[in-house]
Amino acid sequence: MNKKIIKEIILFGKVLYEQGLNHSHSGNISVRDGNNILIKKHGVMLGYLTEKDIVSINLDNDGKDKEASVEAKVHRNIYLSNPGVTAVAHAHTIYATVLSLKSKVIKPVDSEGSLYLPEIPVISCSQTICSDEVAAKIPALISKYKAAFVRGHGAFAGGKTLSEACLYLSVVESASKIIYLSGLQK
Ligand SMILES: [Zn+2]
Repeated sequence: MNKKIIKEIILFGKVLYEQGLNHSHSGNISVRDGNNILIKKHGVMLGYLTEKDIVSINLDNDGKDKEASVEAKVHRNIYLSNPGVTAVAHAHTIYATVLSLKSKVIKPVDSEGSLYLPEIPVISCSQTICSDEVAAKIPALISKYKAAFVRGHGAFAGGKTLSEACLYLSVVESASKIIYLSGLQK
C-alpha cells in the first residue's frame, strides 16, 4: 500500500477525532489510489489508527470488503460516480445530527460556512448504517454539494484530498453549531 496515503489517513483520522467530529469508534475515511481504495478497517478507533488498521479494497466490488469499514460501499459509490473525488470522509457530527432530525437541508448562516457549503442536503433512509439506500443516494449529492447528511447518523464529504474532505466535515459541524446556538434553526 502507498505509504504516503497511509500517513495521510492516520493524520486526518486523528484530526477528525480530536476536533470532536467523531466519538471513540465512529467515522471512517478513505483515499482512492488508482483502482484501489485505501480505507480504515471496521471496528478500529479512527483517532488512533496505525498502518495495520488500514486495508486496501478494489474500486470494483469484488466481494472482498470483509475487513473494511461497514461504510465501504458508500465510499466506493462516491468514487465510481465522481471521478474528480479521490478522498472521502465520514463523521458523526453532533450539532448537525441534531439539526438533521428536523430539517431537510442545513443552510449555513455564517460567512465561512455559506462560502464553502451553501446547502447541506439531509436524506432520510430507513436503514442508515451499512445501507444500500445511503450508498445509492449519497454519491449524486456529493457531486452537487460536496457534503451531505444522513438524518440521525452523520455526514459524508468528498474532495480531491483528505484535507479538503475533512474541511467540509468540519464546516458542516461548525456551521450547524452556529445555527443551533443562534436559535435560527426551524
Ligand atoms: Zn457512521
